[in-house]
Amino acid sequence: MKALKITLFCLLAIGVHFGIVGLKAAPIVPKNIVLVGPPASGKGTQAAFLSQKLQVPTISTGDLLRQEVAKGTPNGQAIADAMEKGELVDSRVIATLLKARLAEADCKNGFILDGFPRSLEQAEMLDSMGIEINLVIEINVPDNDVKKRITGRRIHMASGRSYHTEYNPPKVEGKDDVTGEPLIQRSDDTLETVNKRLDTYHTQTQPVIDFYLTKQSQGGLTYIELNGSLDIRVIQGILAKELKLPK
Ligand code: AMP
Repeated sequence: MKALKITLFCLLAIGVHFGIVGLKAAPIVPKNIVLVGPPASGKGTQAAFLSQKLQVPTISTGDLLRQEVAKGTPNGQAIADAMEKGELVDSRVIATLLKARLAEADCKNGFILDGFPRSLEQAEMLDSMGIEINLVIEINVPDNDVKKRITGRRIHMASGRSYHTEYNPPKVEGKDDVTGEPLIQRSDDTLETVNKRLDTYHTQTQPVIDFYLTKQSQGGLTYIELNGSLDIRVIQGILAKELKLPK
């Protein structure tokens, strides 16, 4: 009898042990996140924060397009022309790039889309690809602030580190703090292009907001609206609280 009890206890212990191990190895709930907001609203900064907290990659369609231009692919010139003018690049081109990126292994537990969808057509495209979005974060910044932010923005191309001539200047003017390499101004960060990009945002991207708000009202996703004029850390605090992010 005693031997039977010991055997049962051992079996129970093994069961509990493997149960716990099994729980740890359980698949993570997909986190498919969309960040919407005008240019320079801080989407990239908050995407990096969320990416680190949730351990899912950020996919910036702007970056995918810039890489395509840099590679000099047949589509490169048409992409560069649209970007330079502040217009949207052909959705079919983006769809091809995005599909390939989403098929990569690191996206299997979720991803953060920064800069996509930018039109109703693209939002519907995600649906038709069978990609369900669980969380939409809208970051709002007034147009005049966007203009100030963009025209003063300077980038370190290799790392993506971003500075601002007035609000976040590098230690040495025109040089990256870490490498000392020169900073550049993106060719679409001029006032003329910014005006066009804002116009594109209000006319073409605004419907994306309504599309996701409707989904939220149907219980299909979580929607968070943020004031992008707040300090970066304050915004991160709000996100951490709302999403119960790990410390
Ligand atoms: P961003 O780096 O997100 O500011 O994007 C820079 C430019 O890339 C935009 O002004 C557009 O010309 C183009 N672009 C980025 N994402 C998209 C998209 N989802 N659809 C169309 N064009 C895009």
